[in-house]
Amino acid sequence: MSIFSNNGGKIRFCSIANLCRLLLPSAIVMAISMLNLGITKAIAAAPTATDIRIGSHADKTRFVIDISDDVKFKVFTLSDPYRVVIDLPEIGWRLPGNVMARKTGVIDKFRYGLFRTGLSRVVLDIKKPVKIKAAFMLPPAEGKRYRLVLDLAPTTRTQYLAALRPPTTARPQPAAENYPESSSGILPPSRKPQKTAIKKHVIVIDPGHGGIDPGSTSGRVFEKHITLAAARAIKTHLEASGKYKVRLTRKKDSFIRLRRRIAIARAHQAELFISLHADAIRNKRIRGLSVYTLSEKASDKEAAELADKENKADLIAGMDLSSESKEVTNILIDLAQRETMNESALFAAELVKHIRKVSKTLSNAHRFAGFAVLKAPDVPSILIEMGFLSNRADEQALRSKKYRTNLARAIGNAVEGYFSRNEQVQR
Ligand SMILES: [Zn+2]
Repeated sequence: MSIFSNNGGKIRFCSIANLCRLLLPSAIVMAISMLNLGITKAIAAAPTATDIRIGSHADKTRFVIDISDDVKFKVFTLSDPYRVVIDLPEIGWRLPGNVMARKTGVIDKFRYGLFRTGLSRVVLDIKKPVKIKAAFMLPPAEGKRYRLVLDLAPTTRTQYLAALRPPTTARPQPAAENYPESSSGILPPSRKPQKTAIKKHVIVIDPGHGGIDPGSTSGRVFEKHITLAAARAIKTHLEASGKYKVRLTRKKDSFIRLRRRIAIARAHQAELFISLHADAIRNKRIRGLSVYTLSEKASDKEAAELADKENKADLIAGMDLSSESKEVTNILIDLAQRETMNESALFAAELVKHIRKVSKTLSNAHRFAGFAVLKAPDVPSILIEMGFLSNRADEQALRSKKYRTNLARAIGNAVEGYFSRNEQVQR
C-alpha cells in the first residue's frame, strides 16, 4: 500500500488502523486567517508552514514544506484525476502570496488548507502517475526550519492504481457537524417545523468552498474568503429584521463536502438555501452577478461549464470518491424536487429584480444548470455567483464592506418579497 507516515521523525509504512491513530487531532489551537476582509485574526502557537518549494530532478520531483515544528504526517495517492495528498495536524499557513503559482516537474497545481478541525491538508494535482519514493521530515539545520520532504518518481498507471489505498477512509465527522447524509443524496422528508407564536423563517446561507478548497482567485484574494465575508453580512442583515433565523454551512475557513451542505440545510429545516460563489475566468472584462437554479438541462454552455467547475469541490479537496457513484453530478429530478425547483425559480426572479438596483448583472441574470449543491429535494435552493474575481471592478466591490452591505440589503428585500408572496398565496 502506498501510504507513508511519519512518526516523530521516523518513516515507516503503516496500516490503516495505525493511520487513524496518527491522525488523532492533537491539542492545537486554530489559526484562522481571513485575507483583507477586516475579520479579526486569531493566531495562536500552532505549528506553522512558512514556505513551499518544488524542485525538478532527473529521476524525481521534490516537494518541500518548511514548517516550524516536527509534525506527524501521512501521504497517499488518489486517482482520476491523479492526486497526491499530504495530511497534517491542523497547522497555520504563512506562505508567500504567490506560492500556489509554483509548479514544476510532475506537479501541475497544488493547494493547501484546513480539511476539517484538527486536520490540515495539501493536495497536489499531478500530470502523470507517480510513486511516493520517499517522504520524511528533516530536522532544522543552520537556523532553518523543519522540512517535510516528499519525493515523487514517475511510474506506470497500473502500478499507480495498484498502490492506491483501499476506499475505507471515511471517518465519522465531529458530533456537531454530524448531519445525516444518504448515499443517494436524497434523504427522508424533514420534519415539519412546529408551530410557535412567533415563527421565524429559517434560511441557510452557504459560503462556497473553504479550507483546502480555495475556489477561484484574483491572485490577491480567494473566493472562499469572499463568500464567507458575504455570508456573514447577509446573516447580520437578515437577523436584524427579527424575522429570520440564519444558519451558515460553515463559520470559518474549513472544508465542507457538497452533500454535507445540503444535509445541513435539511437538518435545520431551511425554507431557503442560498449558496454564495464568485467566479474567475480568462476574459477579465466580463463582470456582473448571476443567479442559478437547478435544472437537468443547462440554460447555456457557460452555465453548464460553471456547474461542472463548482461540482468539482470534493475532488479538489482530495476526497476519495472512487467508492461513490457519480451521483454528485448526475441530476435525476423527482416530483417533489420539481415543486421545489419552481419555488427556487420564483425566489431567483425576485432576487434578480432587487439585485439589479445595487449590482451589475449578466445579461440573462437567472440561469439554470446541474449544480450538485442545489439538489435538496425539499428546500428551495439558489446559487449566486456574486461577480468575477478576474474583473478588477467586481473584485474591488466584493472586497468592500459597503458593497457587501448593499448586496445583503438587496438579498434581504428579495427574501422579504418571496415570503410575503408565499403568505398571500396561502391566505
Ligand atoms: Zn465557487
